[in-house]
Amino acid sequence: MATLFDHTLGRLIEATKHLDLDPSVLEKLKQPLETTQVRLPIRMDDGTTKTFTGWRCRYDDSLGPTKGGIRFYPHVNAGEVEGLALTMTVKCAVMNLPFGGAKGAVKVDPGSLSNTEIERLSRAFMRSCANVIGPNRDIPAPDVGTNETTMAWMMDEYSTIVGKRTPAVITGKPVVLGGSLGRDDATARGAYYIIQYKADTLGLEPGATVAIQGFGNAGKNFAKLADALGCKIVAVSDSKGAIHAPAGLDYGELLAAKRRGSVINMAGSAGVSEIPGDALVAVECNLLALAALENMVHKDNARSVRAYVIVELGNGPVTPEADEILEDMQVKILPDILANAGGVTVSYFEWLQNCQGESWSLEEVHERLKTMMEMEADAVWAYALKRDITLRKAANVLALSRIGAAMAALGTDRFFKD
Ligand code: GLU
Repeated sequence: MATLFDHTLGRLIEATKHLDLDPSVLEKLKQPLETTQVRLPIRMDDGTTKTFTGWRCRYDDSLGPTKGGIRFYPHVNAGEVEGLALTMTVKCAVMNLPFGGAKGAVKVDPGSLSNTEIERLSRAFMRSCANVIGPNRDIPAPDVGTNETTMAWMMDEYSTIVGKRTPAVITGKPVVLGGSLGRDDATARGAYYIIQYKADTLGLEPGATVAIQGFGNAGKNFAKLADALGCKIVAVSDSKGAIHAPAGLDYGELLAAKRRGSVINMAGSAGVSEIPGDALVAVECNLLALAALENMVHKDNARSVRAYVIVELGNGPVTPEADEILEDMQVKILPDILANAGGVTVSYFEWLQNCQGESWSLEEVHERLKTMMEMEADAVWAYALKRDITLRKAANVLALSRIGAAMAALGTDRFFKD
C-alpha cells in the first residue's frame, strides 16, 4: 500500500511536469538527509524499565536549518516520519521560510503515561537526538501528542547539555520560557486567514456550514475562529466518535464536552445526535475541515463528501486517489502545505524573536501571520490559474521552484555538464 512518503514524493514528481527543473533537484529529494533512530529506555513510576523507539528525520536543508514537529503517537514508524519530514520541507518552501523540513516521533501512547514518565521520555528524546538538533541545524516543535510543556522540558534538557540557555532550539514553548504569543492557535488561524481572504473565490458565504474532523489543537481552535466568523458548526469528531447537529453546535458546549473526555458527550442534547466517526466526512456542509491524521479521505469515501471546500488542517488527510475524485467533483482543496502552515510560520516568528532577544505583541504576530498567509495564498492561486491546475499541485510547483532555485545556486547538473 502506498504510504504518506509515496504520496508526498509522487506529488513532487507530478509538479516537475510544470517546471523546467534540473534533474538533480528531484534526484536529491528522493531521500532524506539523515534519519536518526534512538532507543529510549525509561524508568517508569513503578520502578520498571520500558524501552520506547524514537526517530528524528532531517529531510532537506537547502533553504535553511530543518524544521518540524515531534509527535508522540503509538502508530508511527520511520517511513511515516520521513514522509512527514518531506511534507515539512515542502510546507516551509511554500511559505518561503528560511527553513528546510524535518520531523520527529516517539512510538508511544502519551495517554498511557504519567506526567513524570512523559517528562523523562521528552528529556531522553532530546538527550539522544541532541547531536542532530540545534538552533541553526534542526529546530523541533509540537505535533500530535506533544504540547508546550513537552517543548519546555526538551529546551531545558538541550540547554543543560550545551551549557547555554538556548530557547531558539525549539519552538512552541510556553511564552514565559521564550515561546511566542499566538503560537497556540497559529495552525488554525493561518487557515482562517486564507479562508477569510479567499472566501469569494471559494464561494463561501457568511453563515457557511462547517464539519470538523478532529478536535485537538488545530480542530478546536478552528472551531473557535469559525464560530467567531459566524459559521455554523454542524458536525465535529474526535478519536472517540462524532456528533451531528444540522442546526449548529455551540462552541462553548463543545469545549465543555471535550473537557469531560470527548465531544460525543454532547450527544443527547437538543438536536445533537451521535454518528459513527467515519461518517463525518459525508455530512452535508459547505466546508469540511480535516484536522486529524493522514489518509482520512481516500478512494473509498471521497465520493461521499458533500462539502464544496476542504481545508486540510492536519498533514496528509487526503490521498492522491481521493484528490482526483474530488477534482472531478469540483471540490476545492486548501492543501495542508499551505492551509496548516500557520503553525510553522509562527514557529519561525518564535525562532526569530529568540535569536534577536525580542518579544512581539499578539497584534504584531497576527498581523505578520495574516500578511504572509495572504501573500503565499496569492502566489499559489496565481500558479494554479496560470497553469490551470489544482491548488495542491500549484503549491507543490511553487515549493519545488524555490527548493530548486536554492539547489541551483550551488550548481546543477546542467551547470557542470555544459
Ligand atoms: N507540527 C507542525 C506542523 O506539522 C508545526 C511544525 C513547526 O512549528 O515546526 O506543521
